[in-house]
This record gives sequence, C-alpha cells and structure tokens, in this order.
Amino acid sequence: MNGLTEAAVRLDREDELASFRRRFRIPPGPDGKSSVYLCGNSLGLQPADTEATVLGLLEDWGRYGVEGHFRGERPWMPYHEQFAEPLAALAGALPAEVVCMNTLTVNLHLMMVSFYQPSNDRFRILIEKPAFPSDRYAVDSQARFHGLDPDDALIEVSPREGETVIRDADILEIIETRGDSIALVMLPGVQYYSGQRFDMEAITVAARKKGCRVGWDMAHAIGNVPLSLHDWGADFAVWCSYKYLNSGPGAVAGCFIHERHGSDPALPRFAGWWGHDKGSRFHMGPVFRPSPGAEGWQLSNPPILSMAPLIPSLHLFMDARMDRLTEKSRRLTGWLEELLKGRLSDRVEILTPAAHSQRGCQLSLRMLSGRPSGREVFERLTSAGVIVDWREPDVIRVAPVPLYNSFDDVRRFVGHLEEATS
Ligand SMILES: *Cc1c(COP(=O)(O)O)cnc(C)c1O
Repeated sequence: MNGLTEAAVRLDREDELASFRRRFRIPPGPDGKSSVYLCGNSLGLQPADTEATVLGLLEDWGRYGVEGHFRGERPWMPYHEQFAEPLAALAGALPAEVVCMNTLTVNLHLMMVSFYQPSNDRFRILIEKPAFPSDRYAVDSQARFHGLDPDDALIEVSPREGETVIRDADILEIIETRGDSIALVMLPGVQYYSGQRFDMEAITVAARKKGCRVGWDMAHAIGNVPLSLHDWGADFAVWCSYKYLNSGPGAVAGCFIHERHGSDPALPRFAGWWGHDKGSRFHMGPVFRPSPGAEGWQLSNPPILSMAPLIPSLHLFMDARMDRLTEKSRRLTGWLEELLKGRLSDRVEILTPAAHSQRGCQLSLRMLSGRPSGREVFERLTSAGVIVDWREPDVIRVAPVPLYNSFDDVRRFVGHLEEATS
C-alpha cells in the first residue's frame, strides 16, 4: 500500500459515518467495481431501501385501491405530512413552515406569486449572475408578468473582474444602497457553478431591515450545509429533492414559508384544493379557506408514487444527523482540497472558496494548462469510471458527499485526475 492509500484507509476507519455507504447503491464502473461517484450535487444515489418502499406502495394500491387513502401502513391522505418533521430539521424550520410539493421551479413561481409584489417604488429583484438558468427565467418571466422590463427590474450581482466568486460584502452593499427599490432578494444558498455558500443569515437580516422580501433557492444547500431558515427570518425558500436529498430523478421538491406568513389572508396566492383547510376540504365548497402554514400553498393531491422515495432518503438523514454530516463533509472536502493543492496545483485551479464557512461539499475545478482541455479531462475521467459533472464553459464539479462517499473515493479521484491531466 502506498502512503495515500494508507491515509485513505485510516481516514475511512476513523469515520463514524462510514457504514452509511452500504445503505446506498453505488453504480458500477467499467471494470465492474464501484465507480468513483462524486456527483451527488446533480443526482444523489439511490438508497438501498428505496425499491422496497416503492414496491410496498404499489402493493398497497393493488390491495386497497381507493381505500389506500385511509388504509395500509402509510395512508395517502396525510402522506405528505410525514415529511414535515425531517424536512424542517434539514431546513432549520418549524414543521408547519415546510411542505413537500411540486418541483423546484414550480415552487419558485408559486412563491413569487405571494412574495414578489412590485410597486412603483419597489419593484426590483436582486439575483446573482450567472444564475442557474431556470431561476433566471423564472425571475425574468415574473417581472414581465407584472408588465416590467427585466432589464430594469433585475439587479444582477456577479464576481468582480478577475474573481471567481461573489463577495458577500458586494451583495450587502447593493442592499444597503439600492434596497429601497428591491422587492425581492432571490439568491442561492450555495451557488451551483462555483460551489460558493453565501452568508445567508447576514443577507437575510440586511435585506429585511431594508423592507425587502427574501427568498432562497436551496437546491444545492439542503442536505449539504446546515440551514436555519426560521431563525434567519427568510420569507421563503425552495429546493429540489434529487440532489443531496437522494430521492430520485425529478423527485418531489420542497418549500419553506416563514410562520409569520402562514396564515396571512392578505398575501396573494394561487390556490388549489389540497391547500384548503383539512377539516372542510371535502365539503367541496366554492370558497377557498387555506390550511395554516406552508401546507396552504399546496395545489393538487400529491403524487404519492413520486413521494415514496423521500421516506428512506430522509430517514437516512435523520439517522446520520446533519451536525455529524457537516463535520465529516469538512474533513472529506478538506482532504480533497489538500490533495489537489499538494499534487495538482500546476494543473488545476479551485474556484470554490477555501473557507469551510463559504462552501459545502462541492469543489469546482478549472484546468489550468488548456492541454488537455477541461472538456477532454472530463471525458477521460468518465471513461475511467469517475462520475463527476461538466458545466459550461469550463468547470468540472466534484462533490464528495459525506453520506455515502469515502476518503478512498477521494483518493481514487485524485489518482484518476493526475492521469487524466498528464
Ligand atoms: C437543480 C436546480 C434547479 C432545477 O430546477 P427543477 O425545477 O428541479 O428542474 C433550479 N435551480 C437551481 C439553482 C438548481 O440548482
């Protein structure tokens, strides 16, 4: 065994969360052994219990038909309610402030219906640049929907010339100087491209002091970094469940709405019958009376089959606990960073901030020499059974996920990257 292998073995042996890896299905690589899967930022791996959970649901449907709404181990009528507690734990929220529904972009639109109410003086949306396209399209189309010109309505904050991440101070400066015209601050907790974590607390507090509404896109943050949405005072947040939450492609997403809005009748919202007060939902009357809390934003009766994978996924998070995952994440990503800096600093640049407080598990890498090109390196890695992802124009994103990745994965990745860049 060489020194690096020994170090990885030792680190894995000391890892109290190491056994969680066995509760996931790791896709095989070309040699039939497990691939080096560092792509949980894009699609999390399948928990070993997911199949049985989904099959159990099909069994209930087969056995009970419509009665499955009230019978079986997990009746469908209150099905979504079981996710409130674990999601609240991950979001740093009260159970009544979160709901599992729809998909991320749909929730973002629903939230903007309620929380983006432009007036003559206050009509702008602050967003980062370049933002994830769906978020950019969503805010752009919301501005247009209100008859505004997005060129006017959007304030986009980008990294300074020659820098790779956005300074929190620059965001705070915009809020301070232009906050009176900002209706909504809409930022990601962790930025998808750079892996940068924003100072969510400071930004939320500053924006609210200026009278802005604050919404967070937690697609890359939930299950990755600890969140305290309630205490920070955010107005809303949205996330998807297929990245760090491991609930499968296109999984049902989640939404946070602060309790101060939970039963505010003055807030506009788009309504559907599943958001109606539970006690009288089936009276089938024409007048909408919202359920208190985030549940009141639900539209349809939920897609139970798509929700089933959330059960084993969230169960794993509750077992592992976010505080322990955060601790391991720092060590795991820290080790990846250390190896890259020690062995590949002439070939690879890390865009992601070095401070743990400013990132989650993902590191975004850019190839320095230009030969082989970043794209070529990515393709070489892929053929060697290393699953990472490529983001135009020039970034390879690498995410060692503390729930199922090992220090040995990191070691193997670095070895493959050394080969692919030589
Ligand atoms: C993954 C991701 C999305 C995906 O949106 P869907 O509606 O789930 O397709 C949107 N925004 C951000 C920032 C993301 O990272």
